[in-house]
Amino acid sequence: MKIGIINEKKDNRVAIVPDLVKKLIDEGNEIIAEKGCGASALYDDQSYQEAGAKLSSRNDVLQSSALICSIIPLEKEDYKLLPEDAIVISSFQPYHNLDQTEVAVTKKLTVFSMDMIPRITLAQAMDVLSSMASIAGYKAVITAANHLPKYFPMLTTAAGSIPPAKVLVMGAGVAGLQAVATAKRLGSVVQAFDTRAAAKEEVQSLGAKFVEVEGAKDDKAAGGYAVEQTEEYKQKQRDKIFEEAVKADVIITTAQLRGKPAPTLITKEMVAQMKNGSVIIDIASSTGGNCELTEDQKTVVKNGVTIIGNSELAADVPNHASQLFSKNVHNFIKTFLKEGKAEIDLENEILKSSCIVSDGKLVYEK
Ligand code: NAD
Repeated sequence: MKIGIINEKKDNRVAIVPDLVKKLIDEGNEIIAEKGCGASALYDDQSYQEAGAKLSSRNDVLQSSALICSIIPLEKEDYKLLPEDAIVISSFQPYHNLDQTEVAVTKKLTVFSMDMIPRITLAQAMDVLSSMASIAGYKAVITAANHLPKYFPMLTTAAGSIPPAKVLVMGAGVAGLQAVATAKRLGSVVQAFDTRAAAKEEVQSLGAKFVEVEGAKDDKAAGGYAVEQTEEYKQKQRDKIFEEAVKADVIITTAQLRGKPAPTLITKEMVAQMKNGSVIIDIASSTGGNCELTEDQKTVVKNGVTIIGNSELAADVPNHASQLFSKNVHNFIKTFLKEGKAEIDLENEILKSSCIVSDGKLVYEK
């Protein structure tokens, strides 16, 4: 199988790092990589060549790859260059951008969306959502610390005492828990909340306080994802958030609802009451954001509050993010790539859930 690696036009990461190139070649594949594909993640062309990859132009990679893997979906014009029956792997988020697959169905492509891999134990090592969310949670805190005109830790110095920063994390899933752990390590006082009952123990085990809002809907049947809450609960939650938000120096929001816009947790009225100089990092910005004033991929300052909307913070840690993404991709393609040949069994739960186009037909149902 000839596997292609391209230079991500809008991202600093690369889907396959040189270590994986070597493994894939040992497993009976050929690798063709676009020149400079790993440069912004600090994997240079020489390391790809030493691992056994052939370096070439973007067009050549696209035209000759039987399997192509990217972090951000290819551009529409890229699909036109792919061989008729190529396999394409990326994160399409079809819940939100189904039109991404339109071009794919004009050919006999088979398209897998890594974000659709089911969250079952067997697939944990392929879970790009978790590996990227964990990095995003860490980087959100570092970014907040960078913008906050205050210290994070408590300090007692000869020049006086500094109180610790107060951090509030909304949504204690993978990104939120990593944010809690990072903010704790930096010495701040951390509180977090989530609608999922299971999150309470996880937050407390990291030494943070869990902000409780009673009456959340049961989410046990949602496969690890949150469910939309009742209006009554949402109002109770907004009142509680308001109380905590006005005291916070930093708010990290990560709350997402699969297939739906992110819930609004911070209203503009709350922002108006927040402390001057405080910082909101909204990781849910690509699906609408948890703060009403968030603008995706932008930093805005409203009433003295810096609001950063960024769902791609993992791209700001490109070296390690690429390493982890690569490992997830390898574990995924091993489910169908045997001795250099693709044997796609769509009865396999992992392949069935993640396949959005099979043999040119859209098989994903919204
Ligand atoms: P996510 O990105 O979909 O959402 C982030 C968090 O926001 C979740 O914890 C969610 O409960 C929370 N949230 C949603 N609406 C909210 C609201 N209105 N108010 C407050 N919080 C709200 O979720 P995620 O981080 O990808 O994962 C969620 C859960 O799934 C975690 O418990 C994680 O451990 C679990 N998980 C399991 C596996 C596995 O078993 N293979 C893999 C990954 C994640």
